Amino acid sequence: MKHIPRKRFGQNFLVDLQLIEDIVGAIGPAKGDTVVEIGPGLGAITEPLLKRLDHLHVVEIDRDLIARLKRKHAPERVTIHEGDALAFDFTSLAPAPGSLRIVGNLPYNISTPLLFHLAEAAESVRDMHFMLQKEVVERMVAGPGDSDRGRLSVMLQYRFDLEWLIDVPPESFDPPPKVDSAVVRLTPKPLAALLPLADWAVFDRVVTAAFSQRRKMVRNTLKPVCGPADLDAVGIDPQARAEDLTLEAFVALANRVAAPGREPAGA
Ligand code: SAM
Repeated sequence: MKHIPRKRFGQNFLVDLQLIEDIVGAIGPAKGDTVVEIGPGLGAITEPLLKRLDHLHVVEIDRDLIARLKRKHAPERVTIHEGDALAFDFTSLAPAPGSLRIVGNLPYNISTPLLFHLAEAAESVRDMHFMLQKEVVERMVAGPGDSDRGRLSVMLQYRFDLEWLIDVPPESFDPPPKVDSAVVRLTPKPLAALLPLADWAVFDRVVTAAFSQRRKMVRNTLKPVCGPADLDAVGIDPQARAEDLTLEAFVALANRVAAPGREPAGA
């Protein structure tokens, strides 16, 4: 029976065989890899992955698609995790730190929260390959001075190296989405290469406040978390906008805000 694509689950199925081959080629799965696919759907990527792997984990929310997957694949080859990828503990699948490979043509309606959720599993991850809306990839890779730069860019760039791999037009899907797409690779930076950060939650708070009103100067947007003396101490121009700040500047400011004994903002 034909599956009717469900909009609420962001179902746009890949139908371009050459593209599917290119994506699987970019992933480069090898026997023995621990791979999890988010949203296997009708199996466009699942099947070519299984040609190269002995076993695959999948996380799928749609019960009809889960029933199909169960009919098609023996449990020794595909472990089906039924439910919401946003609530799934990806670290539970990693046999060792830095080993898990996560892939997926992601449901676009939840891609930003899903990327933040996956970023929390970074220590378990070897790499991640995702198909996303092109605008989201533009935001992920945006550097200082780029108007696409936002919280997603800074938080992901702290932890991952990002590579834009393949541009994908709407016709590669059925039904075609209204937007262009792109495939991106995220590779966790080695722990030793990470900028020393005193407190991740404070970093998140500073970055979130800075981008809360992106057209405004940081001396205004950052008022709830720090004052002009803090900006001055780490060499940030108070008239700059959040999109102009480097990762290093955000980290230096967050570390100053997190320093023990510091007066709270506004004191
Ligand atoms: N991988 C297939 C392909 O490339 O043709 C399907 C990709 S489709 C864009 C997104 C898939 O993610 C669908 O199978 C959908 O049911 C599933 N999905 C949507 N929301 C999900 C969620 N919260 N957790 C897990 N899977 C989800």
